[in-house]
Amino acid sequence: MEEQKVHFNIPPFHPKAFQYMEDAVLRQKICGDGHYTKKCAAWMKSQTKSAGALLTTSCTHALEMAALLSGIGPGDEVIMPSYTFVSTADAFVLRGATAVFVDIRKDTMNLDETLIEDAITPRTKAIAPVHYAGVACEMDKICRIAERYQLKVIEDAAQAILCTYHGRPLGAIGDYGCYSFHETKNFSMGEGGAILLKHPGDILHAEIIREKGTNRSQFFRGEIDKYSWKEAGSSYLPSDLNAAYLWAQLEEAEAVHRRRIHSWNLYYELLQDLEEAGHIELPVVPEGCEHNGHMFYIKAGDLEERTALLRYLKEKGISAVFHYVPLHSSEAGQKYGRFHGQDRYTTRESSRLLRLPMYDGLKEEQIRYVVSEIKQFYRYTREPNNLPTAPSIFKINSKLFGK
Ligand SMILES: *Cc1c(COP(=O)(O)O)cnc(C)c1O
Repeated sequence: MEEQKVHFNIPPFHPKAFQYMEDAVLRQKICGDGHYTKKCAAWMKSQTKSAGALLTTSCTHALEMAALLSGIGPGDEVIMPSYTFVSTADAFVLRGATAVFVDIRKDTMNLDETLIEDAITPRTKAIAPVHYAGVACEMDKICRIAERYQLKVIEDAAQAILCTYHGRPLGAIGDYGCYSFHETKNFSMGEGGAILLKHPGDILHAEIIREKGTNRSQFFRGEIDKYSWKEAGSSYLPSDLNAAYLWAQLEEAEAVHRRRIHSWNLYYELLQDLEEAGHIELPVVPEGCEHNGHMFYIKAGDLEERTALLRYLKEKGISAVFHYVPLHSSEAGQKYGRFHGQDRYTTRESSRLLRLPMYDGLKEEQIRYVVSEIKQFYRYTREPNNLPTAPSIFKINSKLFGK
């Protein structure tokens, strides 16, 4: 096995984090809603022009808050893709709701908006679109359906910070939008997230849910002279230390965004001839969608080919990975959810998708190396005439398919 040459992800970090974290400590308020938490929230609110933005302990918790704010309860149904992270479903299932999975679109891997309406029942309460890889779902159509059936729209925008749909920021289009600042995302606070609120009327309610069901936030603003238990809530406030770590990156957000887009575009450009030759498929970004270079994925011919390619890249010191195993095929997915309609693309497309190394700081020559190895792989497996010599056929094949 060769040494690791290209990591899949290196967690986001800006050196100013040390200075800000020290400052947070010296301010003697590293609990929730301190100096840096407020800075991060204000930044998100102005970026997205939302009515409100609250930093949370994770995107999972932001989704849980959205479920509580939407009044989701036992027996309710929430429509979502099966090709997503567990949290999209967990947040609602925890409230006793059923996850109703609908097939994805082959091009964007996002919820197929044309299949939503058929999955609606009298128990449907919300639609939870997931903007995969920071590429927007068809939000106009989704919001129109939601309006017609009086459903909430809860955007899982975990991967979609700084992305837009026809100029509108993702996360700020539906009733609620949830970001993640996990270390696998474009901006990190280790573990963390945020909820964006579209309606001013939700702000106080959200603050109460996030502060153990109390109106302590109002108390700290001096709006009331004592705080009390108002309703059921939890503790979804991160420490200001984590916010200080995040703030160092948000200050430089535009530059990080540009560098990621640059890496993404380079991958795309260099891999285009492989797509033209029919070997792989590249990501599709529909018109009107601006992504954030969160992820670069390609699609191999099928599961077997993907497995071989992943193994080949690993041999070359390149860490590429596959992604979600569809939720409806999991143990909990079968218990708490159901697939509505036909699974035309969810299983098939997810089984051939693989993600290439992508992080801020990835070098151009690393991208060129990854691409050249992918090309090398296809030269060997798909075009036997290009094989250099007989002995290496054997070597490559035993490397790829042996064991
Ligand atoms: C990362 C991610 C989450 C979970 O984020 P956490 O902050 O780790 O809770 C949820 N949904 C999607 C689509 C994600 O990519």
